[in-house]
Amino acid sequence: MNTIFGPVYSRRFGVSLGIDLSSTGKQCNFDCLYCELAPLPAISHQHTITPVEIILDDLLIALKSHPHVDVITLTANGEPTMYPYLGELITRINAIKGDIQTLILSNSASLSDESIFHALLKLDQVKLSLDAATQEAFKKIDRPAEGIEINEIIHAIQHFSHTYTGKLFIEILFVRGVNDTEKEVIALNKALQEIHCERIDIGTIDRPPAYPVEGLNFSDLFKLSHYFDSTLPIHIVSRTHATAHPSNYDDDEILTTLDKRPLTKDDIDALFDEESKKRFQTLLDDHKITAIERSNIIFYLPSTNSERKRPKTPKKS
Ligand code: SF4
Repeated sequence: MNTIFGPVYSRRFGVSLGIDLSSTGKQCNFDCLYCELAPLPAISHQHTITPVEIILDDLLIALKSHPHVDVITLTANGEPTMYPYLGELITRINAIKGDIQTLILSNSASLSDESIFHALLKLDQVKLSLDAATQEAFKKIDRPAEGIEINEIIHAIQHFSHTYTGKLFIEILFVRGVNDTEKEVIALNKALQEIHCERIDIGTIDRPPAYPVEGLNFSDLFKLSHYFDSTLPIHIVSRTHATAHPSNYDDDEILTTLDKRPLTKDDIDALFDEESKKRFQTLLDDHKITAIERSNIIFYLPSTNSERKRPKTPKKS
């Protein structure tokens, strides 16, 4: 049974049973610098395809052994939307999944394909990657197969976000010296204005990458987060919080910082010194700061703008 893995626990998505739609080896239309799989030239189509029946049989057996999972995650050694029977597979999983959520982790490259677009609409949760907004940075970081254009991807994500009724997450992974320039982040910010989503996770490399590239530390990510519009639901995902240098914030600085960028407890532990953490707690006890939950992650922001900024109600067309 090699098409199913887990369950694994993810803070962002809960207890997940994974389905690998390319279990025989890497098949991807990108060759990202930061990929945790071995480097391999990008391809346009899967060459080795697992029959739907095998995946469903494996899934049924796994669900019998692990009935208490939160989510069934479609992923791959590569890009899951390259699986040619994706629509059929999702329909058949939906017929047996009961209350369990479904999720796909995709690099977004195939979303402009109408059949993929419609297949993803049938899922409960979709996580789409968007590492760059200019073709130059996109080619450098994601090394896509011939003919894949970032403008087309951005347009497809925007369109999808206006149509989809489930939970949409966007993920941006930053690589030092590649997509972490002011120009690139401003371009990403512009693209994100038209994307209605639950959360935008910004992160960096945290596993050995395919190519010799470097990630950012938490302080770099925190600085970059300020280039994004403060109404965007940005969440910094970093295992390197410890690299930040805690500083002293007075009450006003705490409220202003949270106004510009709502922070998680991990962010606060990394950024605030002990005295500032006590001030933060007092502001929280006095209801000047509010905690809100965005798909399993707690954010803190000034109570005065919790209504004004969040939760952002997705526009549906
Ligand atoms: S999209 Fe994912 S699997 Fe494909 S190269 Fe990039 S990181 Fe690796």
